[in-house]
Order: sequence, then structure tokens, then C-alpha cells
Amino acid sequence: MRNIMLQPEAAQTESGNESNARTLPRIECVPRPGTPILGPSPIPHSPHLKSLELTRGCTHRCAFCSAHCPSGLAGGSAIYLYSNTAECLAAELRERSNRPWAVYVSPNADPFPPLLEVQSEACRTVEVLASHGIDALLMTRGYIRPSALQVLARHRERLRITIPLTTMDRGLAFAGAILRISSPARASNR
Ligand code: SF4
Repeated sequence: MRNIMLQPEAAQTESGNESNARTLPRIECVPRPGTPILGPSPIPHSPHLKSLELTRGCTHRCAFCSAHCPSGLAGGSAIYLYSNTAECLAAELRERSNRPWAVYVSPNADPFPPLLEVQSEACRTVEVLASHGIDALLMTRGYIRPSALQVLARHRERLRITIPLTTMDRGLAFAGAILRISSPARASNR
């Protein structure tokens, strides 16, 4: 397994302002709590799709989401990163006879927050999956750092990336509908 080191541009945030980093929650690297680390599919009736959490808590703190408040830590002042995810995943895939065709990486928190450690672990995880011929599904509202993009580009045949757009702008929502993106109104009527 390659040891991915992202570059210093990683200090930049989505707004391009390093001072924003001061407002970020602190990050704590913790070992994974146990095995197996591949969880059930987040999509019903998709047994060949698995999920894999990278963190507990999400940096983005979207107002409508509770993911930034990990249990046991009021206010979400820290993000817990499972920093040995790639190694644990590689070991688990070696043991499994029935490998999934795809893994949804970090379905409950953004895999590309403005935190170097998390983006590095996301890239290392993608590399492990790709080396086993498994697709990685990623969804992000974040700024994917250029050095992370280089890693993702190497495995583009194995990636499906979703970028959610939340808007009440009718024009943008209409454009989203053309692109087969659900508007908030359509999504809430499901
Ligand atoms: S990016 Fe996603 S997981 Fe993170 S706070 Fe926003 S909605 Fe929740």
C-alpha cells in the first residue's frame, strides 16, 4: 500500500483563506473500534454495495444535518478520524471471499473536509479499493485539494463522485432537474 502524503496546499480551505482553519473543529486520530469495518449498504436491496465510515462527525456543519455532533461530544467540537482505515480495509479485503463491487466511502460525513488528515485517509482508502478492483462511491460538498484530485484522477475508472447542490433558486433547481438532480421540493415529496 502506498503511503499517500498530500501537499501543503492542503492548508487552504474552500474559501481559499487559511485563517478559516482556526475555526475548524480539532481532529483526533483514533483506531477503528473493531471489525468488520465494511458496513451494510446505505441503499436498500444493494447487497453488493458496502459502506465504510472514515470519521465520526463532519466538519462542514451544514445547518440541516446532525453529522457534525458525534455522540458523546456536545457541540461537535472535534472530529474523530479512523486513521488506520486503509490498513484495516486492506486486511479485511484479503480475508473476504465475497468482496463487494463497490463501497460507499464515508456515507455519514464528508470525505473531503478542509482537513488534510481526512483527505489523505480518503485517498488511501480509494487506493486500497481500486487495487482490489472495487469501485468507490464518494459524495462531497468540500474542496478537493489538488494533490487529492491527482490521486482520484489515477483511479477515475473506479470512482463515482456525487456533488450535492442545495438551492432554493428556481433557475438552478431547473438546471439541476435537467441534469437529473432533485430539487429540495422534489426530494421532500418522496
Ligand atoms: S457535508 Fe453532509 S454530512 Fe457533513 S454536515 Fe453537511 S450534510 Fe452533514
